[in-house]
Amino acid sequence: MYKLTPRHFAFPIAAFVGGVLGVDYADELAAHHVPLLTMVACCLSIFATVYTAVRWFIEVLSATTHKCRAAGCGFRVRVPSNDPGESRRWQEIAAAHPVHDQPYHRV
Ligand SMILES: [Zn+2]
Repeated sequence: MYKLTPRHFAFPIAAFVGGVLGVDYADELAAHHVPLLTMVACCLSIFATVYTAVRWFIEVLSATTHKCRAAGCGFRVRVPSNDPGESRRWQEIAAAHPVHDQPYHRV
């Protein structure tokens, strides 16, 4: 059976929050008689920033992160899937990667 996760709702939630904040910002700019093109550019940038941030937070909150347990090593893998077999495989990879002190790796 197909299981819904927070990741499935990331797009509509991010689009809604970004849209609401963009429209609110446009309303404030309109009150100060800002030119239309400037207002559109500002609102689109607000939308894009909020949309990206919300999707990133949902992704971080819904993923499983496996870290290398070697002292001083910052290697870690973020697995977006809830599949236990895949998660276990990435856990083993994080524990046995060949070179320590690797930067963050995302699957
Ligand atoms: Zn390591």
